[in-house]
Amino acid sequence: MIQLENICKQYTNHNHTVRAVDDVSFSVAENERVGIAGGSGSGKSTLLRIIALLEKPTSGTLRLFGEDIHSIQNHTEIYRSMQMMFQNPLAVIPPRMNLEAFLLEPYINYGLMDVASTKDDIRKWMQRVDLPENTVYKYPHEVSGGQLQRVVLARIMLMNPKLVLFDEPTSALDAVNQKLVLDLLQKLHSEQPFGYVFVSHDIGLLQAVTDRIIVMKDGQIVETIESKRLKEAVHPYTKSLVEASV
Ligand code: ADP
Ligand code: MG
Repeated sequence: MIQLENICKQYTNHNHTVRAVDDVSFSVAENERVGIAGGSGSGKSTLLRIIALLEKPTSGTLRLFGEDIHSIQNHTEIYRSMQMMFQNPLAVIPPRMNLEAFLLEPYINYGLMDVASTKDDIRKWMQRVDLPENTVYKYPHEVSGGQLQRVVLARIMLMNPKLVLFDEPTSALDAVNQKLVLDLLQKLHSEQPFGYVFVSHDIGLLQAVTDRIIVMKDGQIVETIESKRLKEAVHPYTKSLVEASV
């Protein structure tokens, strides 16, 4: 579904060059759950932004849904099929937009509108993410971070994505809400399959929600391991991440 070949991204500031992503190659199959682990500054977010077409790689080849990114004709379809979720929902939801408007926004953007039936869908989706239906009339500051992330997840699922990119979506939540959101994600994935790439500094968390984990350090992949075999990791950096998570 996505293929990266020798992807590099360099940033140059004041004559100082950082290789944020350094010769990274991997692919993600349909409905596969892939984790990317690594400490802060290892290049995880840069890599996700490249896949999301928010940033251009300095070099390398990226194919999304079988198409080289330079020959993509229908960007609208790609943007609908590929959704992204970030750490801080308040940075994504405009403060003066109620949650119903936030949930309707992509329908309007993609011209999928049939207002009445869409509003019905949205209310049904509140149940699917374990929120009261009237949550849609609230404003972002009136609900908790964990509830907002469930609203964001509902909005993503409403677009019926093929691929979702998660950049530490639960890192700002307390342990209870973190588990609620991760359990919900697993439920949704089993009901309506989609592939995802989940970035986290917490390799233990990734083990619970992915099939395969890619470990990054200083922009490079140091190890790729099946999630259920994490105990058998051989690279010292992977082992140190396992020890740091508990
Ligand atoms: P992570 O998400 O793993 O913490 P990032 O992808 O955010 O890592 O950053 C990787 C490296 O690239 C870091 O050294 C960071 O400072 C640098 N970097 C990221 N974005 C930029 C940017 N826009 N300009 C300059 N340097 C950047
Ligand atoms: Mg990051």
